[in-house]
Amino acid sequence: MSQDFSWLQSRWIPIIGWFKSIQLELRTYLNEVLEHLLLFLIFYIILCLLLYLLIMQWKLLSFRKDVKVTPKRVLFVIAHPDDECMFFGPTVLNFTRRPGCLVYLMCLSTGKNYGMGTIRKRELYAACKVLGIKEECIIVQNHSYLPDSMSVKWPAEIAAQLILHQVALYDIDTLITFDKHGISRHLNHCSLYFAVAHLSTTKQLPNSCNVYVLESVNIVRKYWLLLDIPISYILSRIRYIATNTDRCLLKRAMQQHQSQYVWFRKLFLRFSRYQMINTLQKMDRQDIELDLELDDD
Ligand SMILES: [Zn+2]
Repeated sequence: MSQDFSWLQSRWIPIIGWFKSIQLELRTYLNEVLEHLLLFLIFYIILCLLLYLLIMQWKLLSFRKDVKVTPKRVLFVIAHPDDECMFFGPTVLNFTRRPGCLVYLMCLSTGKNYGMGTIRKRELYAACKVLGIKEECIIVQNHSYLPDSMSVKWPAEIAAQLILHQVALYDIDTLITFDKHGISRHLNHCSLYFAVAHLSTTKQLPNSCNVYVLESVNIVRKYWLLLDIPISYILSRIRYIATNTDRCLLKRAMQQHQSQYVWFRKLFLRFSRYQMINTLQKMDRQDIELDLELDDD
């Protein structure tokens, strides 16, 4: 019996030894990978801080890259009162401060989802005042087919016609709205993209009207704040950045939305990249046609 056992031991010992050496090699390799990742992260954070100082403090580098055509009449199309502060802040401030540029804001719902349509409309006017948008340039729609709801996709035709009416009325040369992901994938936000895309593909928008969409980024980049500066700088052609003073102003504008100023939105405002960085994309007809085909499916 003892002879059988020693035979078994002599077969297994080399295999166990081999497993142990593999385990050791794997552990060494993982340690090295972690060390490299840590070094990369430290380097990346230092790079971001340096870029932040170069752009914001020392003003030696410009992050801002503007739209090519000089805009005279800009229309922001949003879905709910507070979208202008939550997502479009740096872009809104860029245009409201531009001499000779008139900024309009069109909101396609009054936020009745919370049963506070009148209050939210009043809050929107107060927030726009802080941002520098004149009262007579604010258009608020209240259409029964365009309810404030996360689960309702607005009919593109109806939203499109409402938008087109304002574009023609004010002779808009620059239209800015959400992209197809709507920042938070809120269906109301995404609907605005498809409404404007519909206008573009059916050639109803005047040729003089350029359309730009606010780029949605993944969840990691969304809460990276200044850590997103290098990525946005490399990847985006149109970009705006808010200074610390601008961020205080955006916070004050958001505070006008008292009914919405709850803890999770305060948290969002503190960490969201959209409070500091906005990157835009010019709407491209070929991309839109593909998006509309996929949307139909
Ligand atoms: Zn919204």
